[in-house]
Amino acid sequence: MVSLITGGAGFVGSHLTESLLKKGHKVIIVDNLSTGKLENIKHLRDNPDLSVHIDTILNEPLMTELIQECDVVYHLAAAVGVRLIIENPVETIETNIIGTEIVLKLANRYKKRTLIASTSEVYGKSDNIPFQEDNDSVFGPTIKSRWSYACSKAIDEFLGLAYYHEKKLPIIIARLFNTVGPRQTGRYGMVVPNFVQQALLKHPITVFGDGKQSRCFTNVSDVVWGLQELMKKEEAIGQVFNIGTGDEITIEDLAKLVKEMTESDSEIQYIPYDEAYVSGFEDMRRRVPDITKISNYIGYSPQIDLRTTIQQIIEYYKK
Ligand code: UDP
Repeated sequence: MVSLITGGAGFVGSHLTESLLKKGHKVIIVDNLSTGKLENIKHLRDNPDLSVHIDTILNEPLMTELIQECDVVYHLAAAVGVRLIIENPVETIETNIIGTEIVLKLANRYKKRTLIASTSEVYGKSDNIPFQEDNDSVFGPTIKSRWSYACSKAIDEFLGLAYYHEKKLPIIIARLFNTVGPRQTGRYGMVVPNFVQQALLKHPITVFGDGKQSRCFTNVSDVVWGLQELMKKEEAIGQVFNIGTGDEITIEDLAKLVKEMTESDSEIQYIPYDEAYVSGFEDMRRRVPDITKISNYIGYSPQIDLRTTIQQIIEYYKK
């Protein structure tokens, strides 16, 4: 089995690559290293079953070749991270929409099963907790650039489902909820790697807003397991799935937990959203997935708790 992974040198992509190679699959990566890093796949580079193309998914001739070579496509390449999205809105919208358009058009030409990695951002600021796959999306106004990310990923989902219904392309959509683990960078704002690095460097741990907002953090290995099982499941085709955990923690408690586990004497500093991001920034208060559907389809049940995950990230950064 040959898997093409767009964004394969990224945080989730590199873990997926590693897992597929371990199972004896062949993997083709295409990654433009915008947020991915060669460092993430350095330990895999000698594996004869891996081929790596440092290029953009917007390169249609290359993508035409690669999609013909593979059996299935994991489409993970996207602009991610709230900070990146606010700083580079054009790139976000173009990568997410035009890139996905190219991947789906070619996947359809050669009828290759495609899994689209989407995001819990598509629920927007809905307060209908826990989020079920068929719930409404609630987005803010277009003058707030944060929502362009949610909208661009929602368009990806619409397009994927349109290809499924209209052209019978086998499509699966997975909405990832705050995936965390080793190799995730804090550079684009992600909270867990940020807190761990701050605590280890004895810098202040920066909690944005009042810290009472909460998230459910999922270990990347649980996510990667889920993606592979969904890809195998015939009944998953044409469906949307949440991948996450129901274990909720406030950002303030996360800061305290990281401080305790790193035995750091960093102070916990509260920074208003306007200063942390941009004026008028809108954050989600809570974000909790309902994982009943994915549990029913593939027996998904997250195996790794937050403490273990934070420990893995601490060890990663200490190295
Ligand atoms: N956050 C924080 N300090 C940081 C980075 C993020 O308090 O240094 C907050 C952020 O405002 C949000 C939560 O942590 O409420 C999760 O942020 P992240 O960017 O990791 O993911 P999001 O859920 O926003 O996609």
